[in-house]
Amino acid sequence: MKTLIEPFKIKTVEEIPITTREQREKYLKDAFYNPFFLRSEHVTIDLLTDSGTTAMSSKQWAGLMDGDEAYAGSRSYYKFENIVKEITGFKNIIPTHQGRAAEKILFTLVAKPGITIPSNSHFDTTRGNIEYAGADAVDNLVDVGMQPEIEADFKGNMDVEKLRKLILERGPQNIPLCMLTVTNNTAGGQPVSMQNIRDTKSVLKEFGIPLILDACRFAENAYFIKKREPGYQNKTIKEIAQEMFSYADGATMSAKKDGLSNTGGFLALNNDELAEQAKVLLIITEGFLTYGGMTRRDLEALAQGFVEVLEESYLELRIGQIQYLGNKLLEAGVPILQPTGGHAVYLDAKRFAPHIPPHQFPGQSVLCELYLVSGVRSVEIGSLMFGKEDAAGNPLAPPMELVRMAIPRRVYTQAHTDYVAEACIETYQNRSKLRGMKIVHEAKYLRHFTIKLDYVGN
Ligand SMILES: *Cc1c(COP(=O)(O)O)cnc(C)c1O
Repeated sequence: MKTLIEPFKIKTVEEIPITTREQREKYLKDAFYNPFFLRSEHVTIDLLTDSGTTAMSSKQWAGLMDGDEAYAGSRSYYKFENIVKEITGFKNIIPTHQGRAAEKILFTLVAKPGITIPSNSHFDTTRGNIEYAGADAVDNLVDVGMQPEIEADFKGNMDVEKLRKLILERGPQNIPLCMLTVTNNTAGGQPVSMQNIRDTKSVLKEFGIPLILDACRFAENAYFIKKREPGYQNKTIKEIAQEMFSYADGATMSAKKDGLSNTGGFLALNNDELAEQAKVLLIITEGFLTYGGMTRRDLEALAQGFVEVLEESYLELRIGQIQYLGNKLLEAGVPILQPTGGHAVYLDAKRFAPHIPPHQFPGQSVLCELYLVSGVRSVEIGSLMFGKEDAAGNPLAPPMELVRMAIPRRVYTQAHTDYVAEACIETYQNRSKLRGMKIVHEAKYLRHFTIKLDYVGN
């Protein structure tokens, strides 16, 4: 049998809004052509993010009822800490309300002007936290990772030679740690191989620099290793994840992804001294050591989520659903980043709308049309999110212009997925009509969240 069935059935349903194109034109204009300003009641299929949008299982909901809301020493905390320690092996687990809170604490401690933080590719909030502290966030992605039309197994990898060069240039004393994002969200949800984690660690070890995994999608990464890397076919997802973490000295985690929950995160550190400092910041900014900004029932849901995310039937559907959508688009000739990755399908806006230059945000123009034809919400990952200017004020474009359609976990069915494919195909058929966009208002950091736009010529 070929059909990949959802390894669950549905117990609770939630209505989704159906709108007309005319309505959507108004909603989008009122939102300044920024999907973050759209109201979800105006969105039919919401692919803005896979973060915190998971459908929880009946066991997780039961856990919410069973949560122990004690301020200190909650039973729910120890359940959470146990499973996180079992998977990661790290000594100090510091709970935070989401991933960026872990980043904020970590980079408050280690980042300042003169400091460089390398990564394969920094996620936007990671970069934001590093730059806000005055340090330099530098990506070292393998070249193939920047070529959306090339099929390769591990396009999220760190370029270890670039990393070595960077360390020598900036000086190891100015690099307090190195991040490695698994899977590599910014590079298209592409996985990082076990060999690359080992190679990265070995370069860092030469210079005494700790490795910190940005582990939001560790289970999806482990699944790709099992499927694509020789020697891992007969290992369990948990064993592979444990090996991934064994090469690292700590991790930041948004449990809104592979924690299969609606909120949560943690900072994990083997270094006791750094962990002590982090715990002080945790208490000042997030909450006490045994809840860190979450309700204790959230910790129950997370503890169960970390069990379910390692189930292979879950991951097979998860990655399979994304591949299914990607294949439908490829069959229709719609340009996407290949191969499909762990949590999203990315439209390649450079090939989709080659007539729009990067500084007029081709990706944003594509996602606006996609919303107008279908009510599907997505997000730009390109010049709008990462574009910068040189000293003379000329636009500097990032290597790729992408539109990310992130798939929430266990939320949408195959019919929903077919609808999204049809919407993309229709948008592609309208591509010659797509217009460039201009900024009306922007903030200094993480501008894409609050930017206001209009079409060029309006
Ligand atoms: C989502 C995400 C973060 C930030 O986590 P939040 O929970 O959204 O604060 C950091 N890194 C990566 C790779 C992410 O995908």
